[in-house]
Amino acid sequence: MTQTTYDLLVIGGGINGAGVAADAAGRGLSVALVEADDLASATSSWSSKLIHGGLRYLEHYEFRLVREALGEREVLLKVAPHLVTPLRFRMPHHKGLRPAWMIRIGLFMYDHLSKRTTIEGSKSIRFDPAGPIRPEYVRGFEYSDCRADDARLVVMNAKLAEHKGAEVLTRHTVTRARREQGLWTVTIQPENGNMFTVQARSLVNAGGPWVRKVLDSFDNVRIDKTVRLVKGSHIVVPRIHDEEQAYILQNSDGRIVFVLPYLEDYSLIGTTDVDYSGDPRTPEIDDDEINYLIAITKDYFRCDLTPGDIVWTYSGVRPLMQGEREDDEDASRVTRDYHFEVEDEHGKAPLLSIFGGKLTTYRKLSQAAVSALKPWFPGMSEPWTDQAVLPGGENMTHPQPYAEELCRRYPFLTPKTARRLAFSYGRRAELWLDDAQQEADLGERFGALYAAEVTYLMEEEWAQTVEDVIWRRTKAGIDMSRQDRERLVTFMAAQSGAGSERGPASRLASA
Ligand SMILES: Cc1cc2nc3c(=O)[nH]c(=O)nc-3n(C[C@H](O)[C@H](O)[C@H](O)COP(=O)(O)OP(=O)(O)OC[C@H]3O[C@@H](n4cnc5c(N)ncnc54)[C@H](O)[C@@H]3O)c2cc1C
Repeated sequence: MTQTTYDLLVIGGGINGAGVAADAAGRGLSVALVEADDLASATSSWSSKLIHGGLRYLEHYEFRLVREALGEREVLLKVAPHLVTPLRFRMPHHKGLRPAWMIRIGLFMYDHLSKRTTIEGSKSIRFDPAGPIRPEYVRGFEYSDCRADDARLVVMNAKLAEHKGAEVLTRHTVTRARREQGLWTVTIQPENGNMFTVQARSLVNAGGPWVRKVLDSFDNVRIDKTVRLVKGSHIVVPRIHDEEQAYILQNSDGRIVFVLPYLEDYSLIGTTDVDYSGDPRTPEIDDDEINYLIAITKDYFRCDLTPGDIVWTYSGVRPLMQGEREDDEDASRVTRDYHFEVEDEHGKAPLLSIFGGKLTTYRKLSQAAVSALKPWFPGMSEPWTDQAVLPGGENMTHPQPYAEELCRRYPFLTPKTARRLAFSYGRRAELWLDDAQQEADLGERFGALYAAEVTYLMEEEWAQTVEDVIWRRTKAGIDMSRQDRERLVTFMAAQSGAGSERGPASRLASA
């Protein structure tokens, strides 16, 4: 770390920590973002990857949350056009479940609770009897939300924070913090190296599922709030239908399950809600969740899905805000809204802890969190992130035309690769495609990945391990052979020893 005292030290490099770091750095604070593992290594890469209002939350009268989330779809489409794209959802009408009038009212509210400028409204539909949905489902509804690359949204927020002067430290754990003479003294344990301390005028605890654990490691804090940990799992299978829309399926337990087109060749099916008491670092899908997700899919789709079709699964832990009366509440009904606890000592050294939140609302949450620190930093500037395009999204409204531009400029790229690059990196792809004339100029291949791409990820996006590269910066892990993975391990080991003097990404420093 380059400073001994920061205005703000943010604990946790998930979407909320990265969002807070970017917001605060842009408002003039000196900021350090400290993440125990990799950026987005926890809940923020295990989501359903939707930027959505949350149609289901209307049933629980969560109008504030839904309005804010609906509005954020428009903002994020604008500021992260490469990572957030519109998606139509189809809901088959199930005669035994919610009545059609109720769904129509819900969709009407969804269309009107917040201002829509680009997002299409909802409508009633009839299913093609020869389509992928079982013939007993004749009618249904269609509406809009957005999908996102959750992990890359985190990394690009960290990048934005860095562009605004923040320091981003991954694989460093905050192990203790105490107030001394009006400042926080924070103890940090690097993954490899010796413990050290830094000082900060304020702290934001964005520890997600660890928010309570982080508080427990601090001296003399008076907050007793906690989070309810609820596991959610997804399965990924070869694509079960060819339509471009996603499906939202109602289940008889009142829950809904999404079937989302994923990475061109797959369907992503999820999620579940299971109370969780294990280590938030290592949640895993269980057989009941697999059977639940397969059963509901087969209730609606003409397909013979079996557990043997699953190519990948992932599970994450939601850090849900625990209300006083919610102990016995069904996990799927617990609010997805967020809450801050702020405390200071004699007007100095504030600590703001984040409870709850959604990927969708991270920007508003971050803005509100930083604004809540204004009494301690009266000189901070006004909120700014609603107009701040995330790195890679410059001069773009949708990644598809940019993918076509990439194909013209780099004719050796297949249209599929160009789409992958446009939807992952946006214009930052050019930083490592650079002046390549032929595929060989990008170096060795590791499955879908190029050596130049991996070097860029290591030098510019904090990737240190193969997991960082193939499961968070990209999803190349799904199709990667064991041999390619082993070669990638060797390549990355050689790169980390080689320093930043060589490789295409070294040119980024001056870009
Ligand atoms: C199954 C599932 C599906 C979901 N789907 C959606 C969706 O489609 N749309 C949506 O909007 N939301 C969705 N969510 C919710 C969303 O993913 C979460 O609200 C969000 O990712 C939480 O982010 P976070 O930054 O608070 O937590 P995290 O991403 O968990 O980040 C916390 C970070 O803190 C770090 N940390 C912890 N302790 C320390 C320490 N002592 N020192 C340093 N670092 C530390 C951790 O390593 C971690 O990286 C879903 C959640 C789940 C589980």
